[in-house]
Amino acid sequence: MDCLFCSIIKGEIPSTKIYEDDYVYAFADIAPQAPFHAVIVPKEHIKSAAEINSQNSHLIAKVYEAVAEIAKRENLENGFRVVNNCGEDGGQTVGHIHFHLLARRNLAWPPG
Ligand code: AMP
Ligand code: ZN
Repeated sequence: MDCLFCSIIKGEIPSTKIYEDDYVYAFADIAPQAPFHAVIVPKEHIKSAAEINSQNSHLIAKVYEAVAEIAKRENLENGFRVVNNCGEDGGQTVGHIHFHLLARRNLAWPPG
């Protein structure tokens, strides 16, 4: 299966690692939308948030454990935003579920 983020997780495509554990990999977004912009992915391929179920939801919990850990390590005490784009209308461009962790600027709400 051809998946950009699976290739990044395997190290076949280079990335700037921000965090890694047994379940999760996080790397710097190539087109950052904030001074701090990490992409956080479960290592197991899940297509999108629409594919989360009782068998794989523990991996999403691991992603959020990573969010808190990264926020601690990067001193994001002023706050941050986690974004998951799902499907065409949600603006998802890579078919491997991922969570944007954006920080170090005041983020507008609603996002538009
Ligand atoms: P989305 O639009 O929510 O699907 O997010 C995909 C994200 O992946 C975008 O923010 C891209 O900038 C980012 N991206 C695409 N290719 C790479 C890459 N090779 N390394 C790092 N980030 C990437
Ligand atoms: Zn994948």
